[in-house]
Amino acid sequence: MAYLYDCHVHTSETSWCGMISAAEMVRLYAQAGYTGIVITDHYFQQYFESLPQKLWEEKIAVFLEGYRAAYAEGQARGLEVLLGVELRFHNRIEDYLVYGITPEFLVDHPRLYEHTVESFFEFSRNHNLLVVQAHPFRPGQAPARPAYLDGVEVYNGNPRHNSSNHLALDFARRYNLIQISGSDAHQLTDVGVGGIYLDRRVSSSQEFAAYLRENPVPTRKTTETAAVGM
Ligand SMILES: [Zn+2]
Ligand SMILES: [Zn+2]
Repeated sequence: MAYLYDCHVHTSETSWCGMISAAEMVRLYAQAGYTGIVITDHYFQQYFESLPQKLWEEKIAVFLEGYRAAYAEGQARGLEVLLGVELRFHNRIEDYLVYGITPEFLVDHPRLYEHTVESFFEFSRNHNLLVVQAHPFRPGQAPARPAYLDGVEVYNGNPRHNSSNHLALDFARRYNLIQISGSDAHQLTDVGVGGIYLDRRVSSSQEFAAYLRENPVPTRKTTETAAVGM
C-alpha cells in the first residue's frame, strides 16, 4: 500500500501566480487519488512588504489563507494537507521548499527571507526543518552548495518552465541528497503530475520531514511513470 503525496502545490489565495483556489485544489487532488499535498506558497520579501498589514502576525495570517482553506477542505474530503513554504532569500532568485514548519513557527520567526541559504541552513538545524532546493537548474538559477541542502526537487512538473530535471537528479545522486518530486501546481494542467509514494500516512509537516530523512529516495511519481499507470 503506497500513499501518494505532492510535495509542491500552490493556492490562488496566497500565491500571485496561483490560478486554482485551495478548496478546488484539494478537490482535484482527492479525485486524483492522492493521500496528501504540501501547500508551498511563495514566501518572499516583496510579497510581505506589499501587504498592508503592519504586524508580522497579521501578515502571516494573510499568507496562511491558502493553507488554512486547503486544510479545512482536506478535513472534509479526507486529504492530508501539510504546511510548507517555497522560500526565496532576499539576495538571490533561487527557491527552497521548506518542510517541518507550523503556523506558530512562521509567526514566531519573522522574515525568513532575510537569511541567506548558508545562514538558513544553520538555522534549520536548530529548528528541525528540511531544506530542499526547488528546480535548481532552471535558466538563471543555480544549485546551492550541497552542504547547505537536505534535498533537491529532482522532478518539477511545471510545464511552463524548463527545469532540466535530469540535471537535478544527477546533482542529488552525486551528493547523496534527498530526492523529491512535485507538480509545482498552479493551474489545472499541472495537477497531479508529480509526487512521492510513502509507505505510511503522515499527517503533519514535521512527520513528512522526518519520513524523508529516513527515506531519502522515495519512489517518485512523474509524468513518465504516470503514463504507465504507476
Ligand atoms: Zn508560482
Ligand atoms: Zn512553486
